[in-house]
Amino acid sequence: SKIIIAIDGYSSCGKSTMAKTLAKAIGYIYIDSGAMYRAVALYCIKNQLIRENPIDLEKLKQLLPSICIGFKSNATGESETYLNGINVERDIRSLDVAQAASLVSAIPFVREAMVKLQQHMGQSKGIVMDGRDIGTVVFPHAELKIFVTASPEIRAKRRFAEMAAVNHNITFEEVLANVIERDNRDTQRKASPLRKADDALVLDNSYLSIDEQFQWLLNAYQN
Ligand code: C5P
Repeated sequence: SKIIIAIDGYSSCGKSTMAKTLAKAIGYIYIDSGAMYRAVALYCIKNQLIRENPIDLEKLKQLLPSICIGFKSNATGESETYLNGINVERDIRSLDVAQAASLVSAIPFVREAMVKLQQHMGQSKGIVMDGRDIGTVVFPHAELKIFVTASPEIRAKRRFAEMAAVNHNITFEEVLANVIERDNRDTQRKASPLRKADDALVLDNSYLSIDEQFQWLLNAYQN
C-alpha cells in the first residue's frame, strides 16, 4: 500500500531532484514544501510587506488567509507553483525570493498555516514531500524518512551552475553566502528548526551522481 515519504535536509542539496525522480518512478505525487514558503515570500515582496528590515507581521497575519497557494501540472507533467491563481514557478526561484523565504519561514504563524496545508495535501498518501521539517513536524509518522546532506561548497557549486545558466550576473560567492546563511537560519530558528528525525536515514550526496542518489533512494524505498 502507498506510504508517505519525507525528504528533509539543507538548502540546495538536491532534495527536490531526488524527490521528483522517485515520485515519478513509483507513481507517487511530489510536493515541494519549500515552494510554499517561497510563494508567501514572493507575496510579501510584491505587496511590500518586506521593507529594508523586518517583515510587517501584523499585515502579513491579516493577509495570510487570503494567500492561496497550489500546484498544477504543466504540459510535460511537472508540478508548478501557483499564487492566487497565477503561475509563479519561475519567479519564486530567484535568490531574492530564497532569501525572503528563509526569513518568512521563521515566523511561527506562517509555519502553522503551511504545515496545515501540507498535511491536508498529504491526506491521500502516495506522496513524496521535501522540505526541512517534513519528517519531524508535518508527517512525524511518515513511513520513510530521509535526511540529505552535502558540503556547503558542493551545494553552492551545483546551485551556481544551475542559476548561472539563466542569470549571468550571479557569482559563486553570492550563492555560497546564500546557502550558508539559509542553513544557519534554518538550524537556529526557534520554530521547528531543521534537524534530522530520529528515525530518518541519512544520505550524504556530496560525491554521488544524480543516478547514484536515485538508486540509493529507490533501494531505501524498496526495503
Ligand atoms: O527548499 P527551498 O530552498 O525551496 O526552501 C525555501 C526556504 O523555505 C528555505 O530556505 C527554508 O528556510 C524554508 N523552508 C522551511 N521548511 C520547509 C521548506 C522550506 O522552513 N519545509
